[in-house]
Amino acid sequence: MNLTSLLLLLTVASSPAELRDKAIAGDHVGYEFVTQLTTLFGPRPAGSPAEQKAAHWAADRLRALGFENVHLETFPMSRWIRGDEKVEILSPNPQPVVATALGGAPAAAGVEGEIVAFASMDELIAAPKGSLTGKIAFVDRRTTRMQNGQGYGIAGAARARGPIEAAERGAAGFLLRSIGTDGERRAHTGATHFRDGKVPIPAFAVSSVDADQIGRLLQMGQKVRVRLTSTASLVESQSQNVVADIRGRTDEIVLLGAHLDSWDLGTGAIDDAAGTGIIVGAAKLIADGGKARRTVRVVLYGSEEIGDPQRRPLGGSSYALAHEAELGKHVLTGESDMGADRIYALSLSEPVAASAFGKEALRLLAPIGVLQSRELPRRGGVDVGPLVEKGVPVFVLNQDGSRYFDIHHTAEDTLDKIDRKQFDQNVAAWAALIALAANSDADLREAVK
Ligand SMILES: [Zn+2]
Repeated sequence: MNLTSLLLLLTVASSPAELRDKAIAGDHVGYEFVTQLTTLFGPRPAGSPAEQKAAHWAADRLRALGFENVHLETFPMSRWIRGDEKVEILSPNPQPVVATALGGAPAAAGVEGEIVAFASMDELIAAPKGSLTGKIAFVDRRTTRMQNGQGYGIAGAARARGPIEAAERGAAGFLLRSIGTDGERRAHTGATHFRDGKVPIPAFAVSSVDADQIGRLLQMGQKVRVRLTSTASLVESQSQNVVADIRGRTDEIVLLGAHLDSWDLGTGAIDDAAGTGIIVGAAKLIADGGKARRTVRVVLYGSEEIGDPQRRPLGGSSYALAHEAELGKHVLTGESDMGADRIYALSLSEPVAASAFGKEALRLLAPIGVLQSRELPRRGGVDVGPLVEKGVPVFVLNQDGSRYFDIHHTAEDTLDKIDRKQFDQNVAAWAALIALAANSDADLREAVK
């Protein structure tokens, strides 16, 4: 190498460590993105005008920040619209219940029935067919608070499959103790599964305080009769992914994902405006640091939160289908979708962790408190999962999920819950790791084969 090319190299790119330290000092681009997204558009349910407008806004914003190849990729989907909703205890004495319909659930014109409680999904599944005819099934299982958020996955089966299993046993309605760790009078919504193009019975999540109340009534030997009302509906609509590149010198791509859609109760700040801001902030730092070897692609996915009754591809699967021909050029991917609290560990596949790239990544991240995770990255998340299934190497920057499920999918998911210092630490970790990957010539695909 001669002196000129050495000088060129030195002036071309900021080092990953420099980007990391710059982000820790305060990332304004990413945080501003989150602030504007949540403030201008509020809730952004999949397929809603707010989600569509937010996608156009995001594309404009990314262009203004200097991203290239910025465009929207649309796909058809059914939009679920929450209506007026109410859950009431009718007997032994009338009482209101704080509850919210599960996403996808059908309307209910005052469906009444007696509650039959189950301590878990396994218990519900063990009930014989026909044993719940005309009843309201109630799965009353608590969500365990865990740093890695695993308690959500365990409790989540009841939200996904509960209404289908209850309907198969004859139930007229389904209630769930909210999947949340808060213990507040706050209902957590979330998607439930479709069967034959519909959610078979009305389905609601009740707050943990109300679940306790129902539990006490049952323990006192009372027959608890409830009425479920909802005017929810499904309409044909469309959603879209926003794709934006920081072009590199080669055609290889490192893909960063997060989702633009949110639930309708809050403003989707921790789920997942935070993720979009973290990856946009990190990519912008990399762009400002000089041209990298590989392209850094940001994908802000649409419709992560809700399924499609006709099982059509949503954000993640639409991207994987649309880009099938160039998936061989995708050398690494990861997504940010667990709020804005600090990253504590990096998950890499075993061969990547053992490679020079993996070791350098951990060396870069250790000063900001990110250690090697003992967990494998698996599918990486809902949005990048379809890429990982097609062989794209994946990493996970594991965020502290200890308090995430206190407000996840509730009216309390708002901007004020984002801790700025922890948000900046996220941007720092993403900027450093992605800058390293984008400037590396290591064949990570070969490593994971
Ligand atoms: Zn999310």
